[in-house]
Amino acid sequence: MEMYDVLIVGAGPAGMAAAVRASQSGVRVGVVDDNPDLGGQIWRNEKLKPKSDESKIWFERIRSAEFDFIAGTRIVGQASENSLLGERDGEPIELGYHHLILATGARELFLPFPGWTLPNVMGAGGLQALVKSGLPIEGKTVVVAGSGPLLVAVAAFLKSRGAHVALIAEQAPLWRLGSFGLAVARDAVKRRQALALRAETKGIPYRTGTWPVEALGHEHLESIRLTNGRSTWQVVCDYLACGFGLVPNSELAGFLGSGIQTCDDSDPHPTKPVQARVVSVGESIGIGGLACALVEGEIAGLLASGQVDKARELIPKRTKDREFATVLAHSFALRDELKKLATPDTIVCRCEDVKYSALVNYSNFTSAKLQTRCGMGPCQAKVCGAATTFLFGWTDVSLRPPLGPVSLATLAKVQQPHPKVG
Ligand SMILES: Cc1cc2nc3c(=O)[nH]c(=O)nc-3n(C[C@H](O)[C@H](O)[C@H](O)COP(=O)(O)OP(=O)(O)OC[C@H]3O[C@@H](n4cnc5c(N)ncnc54)[C@H](O)[C@@H]3O)c2cc1C
Repeated sequence: MEMYDVLIVGAGPAGMAAAVRASQSGVRVGVVDDNPDLGGQIWRNEKLKPKSDESKIWFERIRSAEFDFIAGTRIVGQASENSLLGERDGEPIELGYHHLILATGARELFLPFPGWTLPNVMGAGGLQALVKSGLPIEGKTVVVAGSGPLLVAVAAFLKSRGAHVALIAEQAPLWRLGSFGLAVARDAVKRRQALALRAETKGIPYRTGTWPVEALGHEHLESIRLTNGRSTWQVVCDYLACGFGLVPNSELAGFLGSGIQTCDDSDPHPTKPVQARVVSVGESIGIGGLACALVEGEIAGLLASGQVDKARELIPKRTKDREFATVLAHSFALRDELKKLATPDTIVCRCEDVKYSALVNYSNFTSAKLQTRCGMGPCQAKVCGAATTFLFGWTDVSLRPPLGPVSLATLAKVQQPHPKVG
C-alpha cells in the first residue's frame, strides 16, 4: 500500500489546485482519478493545449508541482480506516493517507421523459465529452436542452467542432435569470467568460422557459418535441444534448461517514478543517462553478499541509464564490412541470428497466428499490436516485460500497461502513 501525507481524489480543477498548494510544503502528495489524465470535466484533454488563461495557468503550476498521479484508477470505497480502495484494470489498489481531500466533482442530472432512452439522446456534458474523445459531430444537427450555464458552454463547444446547433432550450423563465446575469456582470472573470460565450454562440437561438417533452425516432433520435408551456413544436435533429443541471458526486464522502468535514461549513476561521483529516471540496459539495472549485481546492491543499495562514487569506474569496452558488441554484431552479413529463411507460431506472408506473405508488426509495430493483443496476442509483428525488421527493437514496461494478478481487477488499450508533 502506498502511503501519502495528502491524498486527493479527483484531478479536476479543485483537485489540481489542492495538489499544487499541498506540494508547496514538501509533503508527499498523491492524486487519483479514474481518467487517464488531469483536468476533470472542464479541462479534459487540455493539458497540452489549454483553451483558456485559467487552464494555462493551472497546467503550468501543476507541471512544476511534485506529486504522484495515480491515473485510470477509480476509488470504490474504503479499504481500512486510513486507506481507500481503488481499482485499476480490474486489480485492487490500496492508497493510505494522513489527510484526504475529496474533489470528486459532479455529474449531470437526467430527468425521464418519453424517448429519453433513444440512441443519440445524451447528456449535454456527456456529448461534449464524447466529441472531445473523437465522436464526429461536424454537420450534425444538435438541440441542446435542459438547464444551467453548462448548456451554453456545450453549445459553443459543439458549434466550434462544426455542429449545427439548432437551439438552446433553457427551462428557467427569463425573469429568474436576472440575478444570475447581475452576478456575472459584477465579476470581471465571469463577465469576460460570458461575453466570450455569447460571441461563440452567436446565431444560436437561446429560448428561455422552454423544455423538451418527447424525443421521437425509431432506431435512434429523429426529432425532439419542445414546449414553452403554451404551445409545442418539433425540431428535427441528429442529437439531443440534455442535462437539467448538476448533482454533486458525494457518495464517497457518504461512505466515509461522520468523520468528514466539508469546506462548506461556513466557518470563516478554518480551525476545524485543520483538525479534520477528510475534507470535501469543489462541485462535490455543491455546484458553484470553476472559480469556487479552484479556491476551495487551494484552501484544502494548504490546510492539509499545515499552511494555515495562507489558507485563511483565501477565505473571503471562497465566501464570495460560494455566494455565486446560491445565485446559480435560485436562477436555474427546476420547474414543477418537469415532474410530469414521464408517462406510465417511461423508463426511470435505465439499468434495471423500471418504469414510472412501477414506482409512482411507493413513498420512499428504499421500498421502491426492494420491490422493483430500481437503483440496483451498474450505475448504483447515480442516475435514477437523483431523478426520483426530484420526481417524488424521496430523500432516502443511499449507496453502499462498492461505488460501482468491480472485480471479485476488489470486492473481497471492500470494507462495509460500520452501522451508525445513536
Ligand atoms: C459533464 C460535465 C461537463 C462540464 N463541462 C463544463 C464546461 O464545458 N464548462 C464549464 O465552465 N463547466 C463545465 N462543467 C462544470 C465544471 O466541471 C465545474 O465548474 C468545475 O470545473 C468542477 O471542478 P471540480 O474539480 O470540482 O470537479 P471535476 O472537474 O468534475 O473533477 C472531478 C474529478 O474527479 C474524478 N472522480 C470522481 N469520482 C471519482 C472516483 N470515485 N475515483 C476516481 N476519480 C473520481 C472525476 O472523473 C473527475 O475527473 C461541467 C460539469 C460536468 C459534470
